[in-house]
Amino acid sequence: MKIGIVGCGQVGSASAYACVLRGVGTELVLVDKNESLAAAQAEDILHATPFAKAMPVSVGSYGALDQCGIVMIAAGANQKSNETRLDLLKRNAEILEEMVPHILIAAPNAILLIATNPVDIITHIVARIAQKYNHKPGRVLGSGTILDTARFRTLLAKYLNVSSHSIHAHVLGEHGDSEVLNWSGARVSNISLNDFANQTGLHITPEIHAQIDSGVRNAAYRIIQGKGATWYGIGAAMARIARAISENEHSVLTCCAPLLTVADVHDVTLSLPHIVAEQGIIKPVYPVLDEVEQLALHKSAIIIRTALDSIGY
Ligand code: NAD
Repeated sequence: MKIGIVGCGQVGSASAYACVLRGVGTELVLVDKNESLAAAQAEDILHATPFAKAMPVSVGSYGALDQCGIVMIAAGANQKSNETRLDLLKRNAEILEEMVPHILIAAPNAILLIATNPVDIITHIVARIAQKYNHKPGRVLGSGTILDTARFRTLLAKYLNVSSHSIHAHVLGEHGDSEVLNWSGARVSNISLNDFANQTGLHITPEIHAQIDSGVRNAAYRIIQGKGATWYGIGAAMARIARAISENEHSVLTCCAPLLTVADVHDVTLSLPHIVAEQGIIKPVYPVLDEVEQLALHKSAIIIRTALDSIGY
């Protein structure tokens, strides 16, 4: 499958590089308004292909997205220190409103996979624009909380001293401050955290709970303070989602997509576990939540809906 990447800064280039290293797709094409940056990224990433998957990596304008099965969108302004993702809203909404028609004219059947922040809102906007172009439902999705979920799994794995591959735990809702860690559903293999603690002595005390919660919720702020932006984690996550699409995996991933109703809020885009395959989003899978989590998801959905209302979506 040919994969296009629009916006080839840190996130777009890390996504392309991760696709090459993981062998996702058969061809990559990079597009950026900064053409010399896109050309340099494409050439640099191409030089990794003999050590990974040998595939063409080229640069072009929107027309070069012709025949893409997936177009990743990572174009936009970046989050600055002390700036929330919602602060980015207006700047990035305008960029996407201008860009999406060009992409859909070149690649009308592509699945659009969004990373641009605030990703839930931008995904909602892109889905609305795509509808006007008769793009099929389910073919616009965002990375949502897949990265936050990875952070949650990583921190739990470290504390519990097991591989993060053996941790099944989701972050839901907004990719941002109101995100919801689904502690009540977290498992080590298929064992609840309580049962695991009874065997190992590794209890999730209130202190550990707070430490992990804050570690997940504040990861982006911490990394941005240290290096200005985040890109490796999201790059790997974008390649993971692209693989689920290009290999028709029917994998369950915490991506964001438009939902008719969630947590009693209508017409909102946020992350739930979604089944992802070659058609894009097949369907959401509603996790069992305790009362606190249910209320937190409702609040998260309200925050996103309010932001959408504020820009007329
Ligand atoms: P960056 O500034 O390095 O790259 C953005 C690129 O977009 C630039 O190369 C710029 O030239 C390009 N661009 C801007 N407007 C364009 C247009 N109209 N057409 C084509 N290209 C255009 O930023 P970055 O660090 O790569 O971050 C990109 C986006 O990803 C930001 O919105 C950031 O907040 C977001 N992000 C999302 C996640 C996530 O989990 N979803 C994680 C990290 C970053």
